[in-house]
Amino acid sequence: MAGRLEGKVAVVTGAAGGIGAATVEAFRREGATVVGVDLLDGAPGDLTLAVDVTEEFAVQQMFGRVAEELGHIDILFNNAGISPDDDASVLDTTLEAWQRVQDVNLKSVFLCCKHGIPHLLANDGPHRGSVINTASFVAVMGAATSQISYTASKGGVLALSRELGVEFARRGVRVNALCPGPVDTPLLRELFAKDPERAARRLVHVPMGRFGTAEEIANGVLFLASDESSFMTAATFLVDGGIAGAYVTPE
Ligand code: NAD
Repeated sequence: MAGRLEGKVAVVTGAAGGIGAATVEAFRREGATVVGVDLLDGAPGDLTLAVDVTEEFAVQQMFGRVAEELGHIDILFNNAGISPDDDASVLDTTLEAWQRVQDVNLKSVFLCCKHGIPHLLANDGPHRGSVINTASFVAVMGAATSQISYTASKGGVLALSRELGVEFARRGVRVNALCPGPVDTPLLRELFAKDPERAARRLVHVPMGRFGTAEEIANGVLFLASDESSFMTAATFLVDGGIAGAYVTPE
């Protein structure tokens, strides 16, 4: 049986991380050729590239190289992001920390769309390509445990994705924002094992009573990347265990 992404070329940024790596695996399983992009060497993928996605020249060169080596580009998963400890309350966050987070989380998405989408537009047919930008559930709701630049950057990713979805809708390129809820990563598990109160403070807001897995998020990305979502663009796609829909949760 042919995979859902047979013959497609996908570029995944933040490919060495939890959600990125799970998505590379899901895309490959469905028949795509996947380029794994990360700051670090050793990201998974059929081709792996070490690129800082905040650098315009490097991003432009990267897409040029992929198109040249693989012939075409069909899917962009712009997913690299950071969430450092020194991004916290607006009262305590320095301008330097604010800017660092904006650069990685929002500027990089702008650059990857600016230099990636022209390659998608160059494809033939009604379905020229799909772009999935990683925002977060904090793009649609506020947290008292603030990470102010992170939240603002994800709000930016959401609005940018919506606008691009509208702009390119009649040219066969779909753009959607993926909004994951909290994911059970090794880092998060370690943090919350040390501080169960902090974990409970968050878990009480999740109707399902647990964090998601990277694989569950990757399944959402796969749907947005494939032609199964061919009537979806400019959407806010929540994969959050029900968080954004909840007022009171079950005990
Ligand atoms: P992660 O830290 O495991 O992976 C992020 C990857 O991005 C890392 O491998 C890192 O090296 C890479 N990266 C960072 N800066 C880069 C740069 N300048 N150039 C290239 N690569 C760079 O994080 P994750 O949990 O897999 O998160 C992936 C995305 O999902 C992020 O955008 C994050 O904000 C978002 N998100 C995560 C969660 C969660 O709970 N984990 C929830 C909502 C949204």
